[in-house]
Amino acid sequence: MKYDYLIIGSGLFGATFAYKATQAGKKCLVIDKRPHLGGNVYCEQMEGINVHKYGAHIFHTSNKEVWDFVNNLVPFNRYTNCPVANYHGELYNLPFNMNTFSQLWGVLTPEQAKAKIEEQRSEAITALNGREPENLEKQALCLVGKDIFYKLIKEYTEKQWGRDCKELPAFIIKRLPVRFVFDNNYFNDQYQGIPIGGYNELIEKLLEGSEVKTNCDFFKEYKDNWREIADALVYTGQLDEYFDYRLGRLDWRTVSFKTKVEDVPNYQGNAVVNYTSHEVPYTRVIEHKHFEMFGQAVYDVPKTVVSEEYSTEYKPGMEPYYPVNDERNNALAEQYRELAAKEENVIFGGRLAEYKYYDMAPVIERAMAQFAAN
Ligand SMILES: Cc1cc2nc3c(=O)[nH]c(=O)nc-3n(C[C@H](O)[C@H](O)[C@H](O)COP(=O)(O)OP(=O)(O)OC[C@H]3O[C@@H](n4cnc5c(N)ncnc54)[C@H](O)[C@@H]3O)c2cc1C
Repeated sequence: MKYDYLIIGSGLFGATFAYKATQAGKKCLVIDKRPHLGGNVYCEQMEGINVHKYGAHIFHTSNKEVWDFVNNLVPFNRYTNCPVANYHGELYNLPFNMNTFSQLWGVLTPEQAKAKIEEQRSEAITALNGREPENLEKQALCLVGKDIFYKLIKEYTEKQWGRDCKELPAFIIKRLPVRFVFDNNYFNDQYQGIPIGGYNELIEKLLEGSEVKTNCDFFKEYKDNWREIADALVYTGQLDEYFDYRLGRLDWRTVSFKTKVEDVPNYQGNAVVNYTSHEVPYTRVIEHKHFEMFGQAVYDVPKTVVSEEYSTEYKPGMEPYYPVNDERNNALAEQYRELAAKEENVIFGGRLAEYKYYDMAPVIERAMAQFAAN
């Protein structure tokens, strides 16, 4: 059988491309080396709860076309991401807003909050004596002052990067948005939510009409002979792996998860709680049911599932999560992209093949654009 497209990877890039191609009357074979479809948005059912196996995924966009596209496949719920920070047992709302400021200082008005931040910022700026902030610590102190920095940024960032804030470059934090309104909505986008019934439903809809194969590694099964079965290849796996790492390996950062069932209906009262001190080794705790269950529904399911997230140094064989955009990796990725551009009838797309961090909505947008361009 001859396919128009052999698509490597059933994540949002591969699945969206397959959907668009199928709609246009093309035949697609979608393979994935994992035992399931959906890539990183895949959810595992535990205790009647959709568990985000590869980390919490919250869909958000201001692109109406993408929002309408996904909602026409599966309606989305009203989940709004409002994370909470726990610093040595004190709770603070995020992102930094009037709720956070009243919890930190007991201030009541935007004027009072602004005055407090300005006072602490100018302390840090004066200490620099006209010099540029030479590390992340100084940069953050100049942007938001000592209270926000020491309670909500410093140790969390150190856990994420595995390094002291004094050793991290200033450019990592260019801006630290502060809001002088009582608004805990983490995202500024116009639309956000979670597909009703979970992400697996969305992936199923996207892959309707395509042939799919799981537990199927491109490099073991199709690398040498794919041109015999398909006119074109859509590759969403790792960029350097496609070229057998011939120029060297690209680095990644990763996260590991410790997931457990708790015998209570409501463990932390929120989907996302950040732990901003070194006292606990994990960065966040995700309570998955809060993505899809609201009000009484939380109590209708007697147990709950929580995942602790640990920032972990990446080694080959681990899940590659975040590209490392330093000079070495950017230059190496560029060299691989030049090789990729020379491959005939091969489309490289998605976070692994482009070596670029993409949120879900931009990945859908990219896949639509790539299909339209081919
Ligand atoms: C921890 C974490 C949290 C995130 N949270 C959010 C969020 O809250 N909101 C948001 O918008 N975005 C979030 N994202 C981003 C989101 O995960 C990506 O936008 C999305 O996964 C990209 O889809 P993709 O198809 O490019 O990649 P993937 O989903 O990774 O899919 C690639 C697929 O290719 C398969 N594959 C690779 N190599 C081969 C091979 N050789 N043979 C066969 N199959 C292969 C893989 O198994 C995988 O299934 C998060 C990302 C991470 C890492």
